[in-house]
Amino acid sequence: MQERRFHVATEEEIRNGKTTDIYFIRANKILKKHGLDKVHVYAEVSTSGFPNNWQWAVLAGVREAINLLEGHPIDLYSFPEGSIVFPTDYNGYRMPIMMIEGTYSDFSVFETPLLGLICQASGIATAAARLRTLAPNKSILSFGLRRMHPAISPMIDYSCYIAGLDGVSGVLSAELLGIPPSGTMPHATIIIFGDQIKAWKAFDEVLPPEIPRIALCDTYRDERDEVVMAAENVENLTGVRLDTPSSRRGNFIKIIRECRWELDIRGYKDVKIFVSGGIDEEWIKKLTIPEVDGFGVGSYLSNAPTIDFGLDLISVYRNAKWIHAAKRDRLNGKKKVWRCSKCLIDLITLQNANPPSCPKCEKQMSPAMIQFIKDGEIIEEIPPPEKIRKTLSEYLKLVSVD
Ligand SMILES: [Zn+2]
Repeated sequence: MQERRFHVATEEEIRNGKTTDIYFIRANKILKKHGLDKVHVYAEVSTSGFPNNWQWAVLAGVREAINLLEGHPIDLYSFPEGSIVFPTDYNGYRMPIMMIEGTYSDFSVFETPLLGLICQASGIATAAARLRTLAPNKSILSFGLRRMHPAISPMIDYSCYIAGLDGVSGVLSAELLGIPPSGTMPHATIIIFGDQIKAWKAFDEVLPPEIPRIALCDTYRDERDEVVMAAENVENLTGVRLDTPSSRRGNFIKIIRECRWELDIRGYKDVKIFVSGGIDEEWIKKLTIPEVDGFGVGSYLSNAPTIDFGLDLISVYRNAKWIHAAKRDRLNGKKKVWRCSKCLIDLITLQNANPPSCPKCEKQMSPAMIQFIKDGEIIEEIPPPEKIRKTLSEYLKLVSVD
């Protein structure tokens, strides 16, 4: 086995198509032998549905997809980064979320990395956006890097951030996003001090004032005791974090309410309560109560299901005209996707059709996709993460999580 410190591909290897599946290389060889490798094609990225019965998804990874395909003589159209997308249009017709046109052999090897970039990031962004929708007024932080390969930590946190989460714990991720990283304290600090109060006080003494003082209150004693100890001993206490282990959770909501009560009656109404440890959609639904101020969410985000987007050839340019060539289950014809952004409704038509009217509000619909690459050149830049999350936050008001 060839030695490499970590099992990761380099940027250069990915950009050179080295992470592709072998059958694309073999296909190109066969096509070339028969003089078919320069055939011009039109391809679509689409899905037959989302995991976990999700009704909508947040498209992410478009920024990386553009960086992957830049410089290759193709045209790329896509829903913008951070768009809410559906598997079908309003009438139930399978809908592309991305379209590529060019010579097949110029982009075929990029099918594998292209899908990998958007499938995983979209799964994470969707999971994050669902939590955002369920608890719009609570603080939600991405804490799940430790369960995933470190090489993808910037992608995980980027996807959570554009979906609207309040912060990310990853140092490199935060640096790349241009935001301060978020975090409290690990159990290890308390274990090494051997005393909760000493550890909390040291945290307060050592760290700069802009870092919120959030005391971890579940290490050795009952949560109720520890939160009172923290409130009474840490001068600048912002809040407490309960990372109660599952073996002790009995009734977590009752534990949280008891902590809130004990803090309040002692005059610590401003001390916030944050919870972490195995938080997922079900927990967020249960714990979106006035007593909880925020959540640290781990594997539910970083290990979100990947979305099965696939890439299919739809039309082939042969004998000076476009030929319908889609496989079974896919819809023929070069298409255009239209959206009413007020109603979040999409319709597909053939490419040269006139703009349809929204079936709900009857206003004229607008093209949903943007051409990002023209003959290999990036012609439209992706906005910064801050802008993407702001735009998405408005659209998230139009969808629900059921
Ligand atoms: Zn409308």
